[in-house]
Amino acid sequence: MPLYDYRCEVCSQPFQARHGFNDPTPACPHCGQAAVQRLIVKAPSIAGGMLTNAGDSRHASKEQLKDKWAEETPKLRKKLVDKLGEDTVSKYAPTLGSGNE
Ligand SMILES: [Zn+2]
Repeated sequence: MPLYDYRCEVCSQPFQARHGFNDPTPACPHCGQAAVQRLIVKAPSIAGGMLTNAGDSRHASKEQLKDKWAEETPKLRKKLVDKLGEDTVSKYAPTLGSGNE
């Protein structure tokens, strides 16, 4: 059964109660009042921070990848040209061509 977060509207004490989805709202364990408010658990701030960080790192790594790509592409292309010849590289790896993409 899911665990729900509540806050008593009478004594303002937060509490948790485990019950079924269709079961009635439990009474406050502190003062016994039934006037309790279920707290909707939104994405916790921790998760939000993680998401933000993940977004940032994705952005950073993409930029880093781009830099790395720009740095490595001419070398890679030269290796391939040495090995396979200019025509083959131009034909099969046209994206390695300009290096400005
Ligand atoms: Zn209470």
